[in-house]
Amino acid sequence: MATIAFLGLGAMGSRMAAHLIAAGHTVRIWNRSPEKAAPLLQAGAEWSETPAKAAAGADSVLAMVRDDIASRAVWLDPITGALSAMTPQATAVECSTLSLPWVKTLTAAATSRGINFLDAPVVGSRPQADQRQLIFLVGGTETTVGKMAPILQTMGSILHHLGPNGSGAITKLAVNALFGIQVAALAEIIPMITAHIDAPARAVEALIATPAASPAAKAAATSMLSQGFPPLFPVEIVEKDFGYAAEAAAQAPMIAATRAVFQRAIAAGFGADNLTGIIRLYAPAASPPEKI
Ligand code: NAP
Repeated sequence: MATIAFLGLGAMGSRMAAHLIAAGHTVRIWNRSPEKAAPLLQAGAEWSETPAKAAAGADSVLAMVRDDIASRAVWLDPITGALSAMTPQATAVECSTLSLPWVKTLTAAATSRGINFLDAPVVGSRPQADQRQLIFLVGGTETTVGKMAPILQTMGSILHHLGPNGSGAITKLAVNALFGIQVAALAEIIPMITAHIDAPARAVEALIATPAASPAAKAAATSMLSQGFPPLFPVEIVEKDFGYAAEAAAQAPMIAATRAVFQRAIAAGFGADNLTGIIRLYAPAASPPEKI
């Protein structure tokens, strides 16, 4: 059993850390808002006052925080950051969805201190995190991936080693871009059907049963039909990821257009809702067409 520091106990991090505790590891936890730690402390985790204190002497340090700014704070803050407290040869694993330039900076900072580093963002949302069904997209050396695989597999079902550092980060941005573009397309396409058909459920169900619909599009369409948008993958987080994808893509009019849709949704007050909630941007026309 290992001593693991886990930084960031939001929707995803709290669920991931819970599996490490349940597996019997010594898990030191830290979160910017300490109150979120309570359930994990009851489950057996140890509280640390700062990322640095959590990281000191740990075999590995994992982070799951919102964005580049949060990642910089937990790893590189000169006083409280984890990297400066880590033992050389310990492993740092960044699971957050981040920009490629920042992941390159973090890789260099870790490597210059003799610390092994993996970018290991995840595909899957809260239910997959609960069920240990996350898919890890990993960049780093073969040796470090091999060393960390048993820990990552405690939280997920599939681990793709994609190449050197940064490979995980860019692949994760690609996955989210493909997913978000499909959701934005469905948010236009479903109202197109409902404008013309009185009982659109059958038409939408037929649409998502065709090979044109991906499994993710099927789930998104079902959520849009039911008008249920509890936050699994909130609009604000998706918009953040589209910003990083837009930076990484040389020519990306669809990424830019989709990001603009998510920005409109935030402006309309839907930022904390699930990404499928963007369908509410497309209200029925003032003078709807005659139904078929
Ligand atoms: P979340 O519930 O909003 O949690 C965000 C976490 O980041 C919290 O622990 C928060 O601390 C921390 N944080 C934010 N700003 C910070 C700062 N400046 N300094 C230190 N900590 C900070 O988000 P989440 O859904 O868990 O997402 C976490 C990461 O996973 C993101 O990179 C996201 O893109 C990625 N992801 C999310 C999903 C999903 O379905 N939700 C799926 C795959 C990947 P506080 O508690 O103090 O606010």
